[in-house]
Amino acid sequence: MIIVINMPRKTPPHKKVCDCQGSRRSRRREAILDVLSSGEGHLSAEQVHKAAQKRMPGIGIATVYRALKCLCGCGKVLEFIPSDGVARYEPGGDKPHHDHLICTACGCFTEAVDPEIERLQARLAAKHGYAISGHRLEIYGLCPCCAKKK
Ligand SMILES: [Zn+2]
Ligand SMILES: [Zn+2]
Ligand SMILES: [Zn+2]
Repeated sequence: MIIVINMPRKTPPHKKVCDCQGSRRSRRREAILDVLSSGEGHLSAEQVHKAAQKRMPGIGIATVYRALKCLCGCGKVLEFIPSDGVARYEPGGDKPHHDHLICTACGCFTEAVDPEIERLQARLAAKHGYAISGHRLEIYGLCPCCAKKK
């Protein structure tokens, strides 16, 4: 089992006014946020695209990428990149902090948080003189279903 701790990817601050402002854009943005909030979460851009097409036939992948980038910039969506290198997206905003257990066989995500692990990470950062601004903890392995199949 590998434990990877990496910081959330810093999204560069928006220089211009966020371009998700226009009504058509904000409608798309809402729909994409909706896709992320319903369903299983932790979707890749391609999965978001597939789901978004059901609501908005003809929506292009470039539009999805743009909307996701924008939503990440606004802090409404969090982007993280697990060890497979494919960015996943989940609604941010008011969702409380959690860490992820990721199945390397079926790719499912389990959200989990342990106050003690949280505390230990803060302690580790302090030990190295770091003022902590956030963390991501991903634990890779087999989910109970996949472990049973082995
Ligand atoms: Zn955590
Ligand atoms: Zn699994
Ligand atoms: Zn999550």
